[in-house]
Amino acid sequence: MRAEPGSGRRRTTMTILSSLIGSDYRPAGSAAARALQDVVTDVHLPGSDRYAALTRTSNLTHAISPVAVVEARSPMDVSRTLRLAAAFGTPVAVQGTGHGATEEMRDAILVHTAAFDEVTIHPQERWARVGAGVRWERVLDACAPHGLAALCGSSPDVGVVGLLTGGGLGPVARSHGLSSDTVRAFEVVTGDGVVRRVSATEHPDLFWGLRGGKGSLGIVTAVEIDLVDLPEIYAGGLWFVGDDVDRVLRTWAVWCELLPEEGTTSVAVMRLPDMDPFPEPLRGRVSLHVRFAWTGDPGVGAEMIQAIRSAGDAVLDSVDVMPYHALGDVHADPVDPMPLHETTMLLDDLGPDGVERLVELVGTRARSAQAMVEVRQLGGRVREGDACAFAHRDAAFSVFTIGLMIPEVAQAVTRDAVRIAAGLEPWARSGSLPNFTDTAGRAWADRVFTPLVARRLRALSLAYDPAGVLLAARGVRS
Ligand SMILES: Cc1cc2nc3c(=O)[nH]c(=O)nc-3n(C[C@H](O)[C@H](O)[C@H](O)COP(=O)(O)OP(=O)(O)OC[C@H]3O[C@@H](n4cnc5c(N)ncnc54)[C@H](O)[C@@H]3O)c2cc1C
Repeated sequence: MRAEPGSGRRRTTMTILSSLIGSDYRPAGSAAARALQDVVTDVHLPGSDRYAALTRTSNLTHAISPVAVVEARSPMDVSRTLRLAAAFGTPVAVQGTGHGATEEMRDAILVHTAAFDEVTIHPQERWARVGAGVRWERVLDACAPHGLAALCGSSPDVGVVGLLTGGGLGPVARSHGLSSDTVRAFEVVTGDGVVRRVSATEHPDLFWGLRGGKGSLGIVTAVEIDLVDLPEIYAGGLWFVGDDVDRVLRTWAVWCELLPEEGTTSVAVMRLPDMDPFPEPLRGRVSLHVRFAWTGDPGVGAEMIQAIRSAGDAVLDSVDVMPYHALGDVHADPVDPMPLHETTMLLDDLGPDGVERLVELVGTRARSAQAMVEVRQLGGRVREGDACAFAHRDAAFSVFTIGLMIPEVAQAVTRDAVRIAAGLEPWARSGSLPNFTDTAGRAWADRVFTPLVARRLRALSLAYDPAGVLLAARGVRS
């Protein structure tokens, strides 16, 4: 092919230009960012301290660099941002904590919800109104004096709305269902910039789509959730090391199938480094963390967990009656920013053959490069609840791997994750949970939604976001 006359010179000029301005020069988005400053007050541009603070992500391999951050203070700020972005053809993303970032956001405007910080508890009627910037910890603390519980996930550091828009599979999910089943109403700004109240009776189509569809239909500014009368639970974790790891894992796989739905459980095979802040008995060795939360009579819960206690000598055992607001202790998830490689899959079954394969893949004698391989049992009331865009209520287990992406082991971690997924393939089903995501865009939507759910979300997106301004809708629209 013949080069166009002058094309070499143009390329040279562009190269000199971009080296002068830096690789951060993004003309289309930058024009939108400048215009934004006329319509909303708190716009933060790259280089400012506030921009740096609001673009932090907890997985350091998912750094984000939007053209601008709007620190929204009202639904109208969100509306103005969406309308202006649509006029410029600039996509808009949303973030509350940075725990679930998957997109680079290079050409997008980010709406940050930190300033939506309302938590109002209505103890008599047992519901709460929560701003989109609030993390679960604040809701749990506000509910505690009333003996009430909000259905959070395993980590109270996660954002309320981020979790709820992905369904939300928490430590008491089998007895109380998906967290998103507790949503009464959303206050949301849909992609067309319209502020709407959405509930089972107001825009029921959006109510279906916002529970499981993540941010693909709109930017939620507040949510109303039902609370549960649950001041205390019988819960905690047991840790095993050495030969007990494989033995207890085998027992757990049989035992969890017998567990009534008052019990929710998961296991995590951990390979923790030999360093602070990890507890001494777990450092530098393979360990098994059995998590258990029982919402029925504690005496029966103690009877239930006895099978696990008898299967090995736990080096740590925190299972006891605890206040519900301490629920984060059950999984004790670390939340410090780290470079991580995460994968996720769903299983239809585990059974004796499945657990043997799991032991072979990640047990004490396996050479696994993952820091954690977690298996959560689903079932129970996760299967119930109204229809919504959460597409895999009937899966039996979820598997989640996390490896540390430091240069020395990064290649081994990614190869090993593929090995584990391939090894569990006979028990797997296609699909994934919206909140446990290792991908973005089309690949994410293809895994998380069934074709039917994806088509319905796409139709809603065309209706409520005609310009396709929401970055999170890319997956369902492509
Ligand atoms: C330590 C840890 C433990 C976890 N445990 C669980 C668990 O037990 N169960 C579970 O289901 N998930 C769990 N997750 C996954 C978590 O629910 C998702 O990562 C979730 O997206 C985080 O939401 P966020 O608001 O904190 O993160 P953010 O990064 O702020 O948001 C992530 C995404 O959520 C959506 N979102 C956030 N805010 C809004 C909004 N205002 N409007 C519309 N969409 C919005 C967007 O799609 C956004 O990209 C865990 C994550 C971590 C880090």
